[in-house]
Amino acid sequence: MKAIRVHQFGGPEVMKLEEVPDPQPGPVQVVVRIHAAGVNPVDAYIRTGTYASKPNLPYTPGTDAGGVVAAVGAGVKRVKKGDRVYTTGSSTGTYAEQALCNETQLQPLPDNVTFEQGAAMGVAYGTAYRGLFQRAEAKPAETVLVHGASGGVGTAAVQLARAAGMTVIGTAGSEDGMKLVKEQGAHHALNHSVEGYLDELMKLTDGRGVDVIVELLANKNLAKDLSVLAKKGRVAVIGSRGSIEINPRDAMSREADIRGVTLMNTSEQEYRAMHAALVAGLENATLRPVVGQKIPLAEAARAHAEIMKHSGAHGKIVLIP
Ligand code: NAP
Repeated sequence: MKAIRVHQFGGPEVMKLEEVPDPQPGPVQVVVRIHAAGVNPVDAYIRTGTYASKPNLPYTPGTDAGGVVAAVGAGVKRVKKGDRVYTTGSSTGTYAEQALCNETQLQPLPDNVTFEQGAAMGVAYGTAYRGLFQRAEAKPAETVLVHGASGGVGTAAVQLARAAGMTVIGTAGSEDGMKLVKEQGAHHALNHSVEGYLDELMKLTDGRGVDVIVELLANKNLAKDLSVLAKKGRVAVIGSRGSIEINPRDAMSREADIRGVTLMNTSEQEYRAMHAALVAGLENATLRPVVGQKIPLAEAARAHAEIMKHSGAHGKIVLIP
């Protein structure tokens, strides 16, 4: 089969399409025929070799994909050949025609959801769910700001919060992005590249502020976030690309919490709850992953250059083998 291989850490150009042996399932393993692989910023961080966890070289990048079960080991119980699935990880990497997975890394992909949408699920929806519910403990009737709502995680957070009965305010950096955010169910969209946009937010909440902030670029926004939180508000820090100075008094006076989010810290029990909720959301169509660019697998380098622009207004990038 064909797969992207990385033999040395570095820029996008270190990813090369190569011929590798087809994977064979062990007793509790599953081979998935990949129809679309999701591209996430973390794939690019890992490829540079500077990320906290480093794979052994050579390796195939990618954790997310939508596909069909091609073969199962004798001890596999949860899936069978021919099942449509989305992946939340694999042993061999998903930037490939096939991937070897444990059955616990597979979730059913309902018939109303495309493989490309399945490839947009694992990291983006998992992180949005963890940030909103498992870390920020967002509840129906609360008001949520999704700060960076036009990207993979942000669109997922908007859909999840809206479906759970929250008032949702989302930001984007362009008119197109704001339109996209509204289409995902946000009650209001603001432009984070326009000065004074958070004054607008205070007006929308009658001066009270928001209960929860899902923050996608904390190094730019955390100080401002603390100033627009309601009393007992929580900021879920999902994305940050540097450091920032904050005024601790803003947190003190509100008894506010800053809560870090790392998808990889999800426990087994939390993982089961997360994906039960996400699959139900796909089935009832409250979750509708937005797919933007479909790029041939051979052009994975171009996909990584795109993902690092940190502009999400055009939907999820997926690779097609
Ligand atoms: P993405 O699809 O590239 O989206 C990036 C988002 O950031 C877009 O909505 C973009 O909006 C927004 N943005 C740009 N400038 C901003 C600003 N000044 N303020 C607020 N938002 C701004 O990326 P993604 O997959 O959603 O990931 C987003 C971040 O979360 C990345 O840093 C990623 O590494 C991180 N992440 C963390 C975890 C975790 O476990 N903690 C898991 C997944 C992702 P416009 O393009 O409209 O300006």
